[in-house]
Amino acid sequence: MLRIEDVANHRDFRPLGTVPGVEVDLRYASEDNFAGRVLYTCDGVLWDCAWLRREAADGLAAAAAWLERHRPGWRIRVLDALRPQRVQEAIWRDVVGTPLQPYFANPEVGSIHSFGMAVDVTLVQPNGAEADMGSGFDEMSERSHPEFHERLLAEGVLAPAQIDERRWLADAMAAGGFAGIATEWWHFDHGDRVRVRRDWPRVI
Ligand SMILES: [Zn+2]
Repeated sequence: MLRIEDVANHRDFRPLGTVPGVEVDLRYASEDNFAGRVLYTCDGVLWDCAWLRREAADGLAAAAAWLERHRPGWRIRVLDALRPQRVQEAIWRDVVGTPLQPYFANPEVGSIHSFGMAVDVTLVQPNGAEADMGSGFDEMSERSHPEFHERLLAEGVLAPAQIDERRWLADAMAAGGFAGIATEWWHFDHGDRVRVRRDWPRVI
């Protein structure tokens, strides 16, 4: 176990500010999130959560480099990265028993975000605007589920261009060793979830 306050002095972690081709806009460090309040804070102190484990940060650099090669001028924007277990527990208290619950890991199992091995990301166009993904970050509805792309396309809920943008994002992340999940277009894990939970320290 490792405290978020000690991550900056830990050699296994790398600050996102050192990853080329990547912008950082951590929504849980602001009020611009599903909860409408700053989540990365405790007793008035704002936590620096712009970190990933070195393996994941290096993978993110590879993803950004792949994107620059295939779509010059496009960048990856990180919306969430290392999420301390204490924040995961606070979120869980907010969402348990609500329709949002399925989108968050039970803190007893733990989120891969809390190991610094998951990121929430989107794409930024050369003009600085975020790509149109058809639903916003943390929009917890079927529109955000990659598993339903075919049906959402057939029903006209998502446009082909929006699904294309999600594919560009997934392809870039795959080039960095990340895998997406069925329910959130923005979430990617690096490495094997079972091994991560078994072998590495959780950040609290
Ligand atoms: Zn996530």
